[in-house]
Amino acid sequence: MTDIAHSHTDDHPLDGQARYRTDGLGERVVVLPATCKRGLHQLPAAGFRAVAEQGWILVECLACGEGDQVSQWRLTTCGAVAERAEFDDQPYAGHSLQ
Ligand SMILES: [Zn+2]
Repeated sequence: MTDIAHSHTDDHPLDGQARYRTDGLGERVVVLPATCKRGLHQLPAAGFRAVAEQGWILVECLACGEGDQVSQWRLTTCGAVAERAEFDDQPYAGHSLQ
């Protein structure tokens, strides 16, 4: 019996589902964690890079450094692309390493 359905290896597991809300203008807003995953930096102040891929979004902390996988958030996305992003730690409490 062969089972190749789960043969892909991903050593950077996703951090869960990205949260969304709809603002007063009816625009779709994606809510991103405000703190890098190391728990060291406030992303809006420290600088960040958000890359939306097919089905997920990568949020990098520029203070920790691009490519620092420990500080990256990897969130799955669903539905239409958000018009803009906001930061809020609350929906992601418990995921941070701190
Ligand atoms: Zn950081």
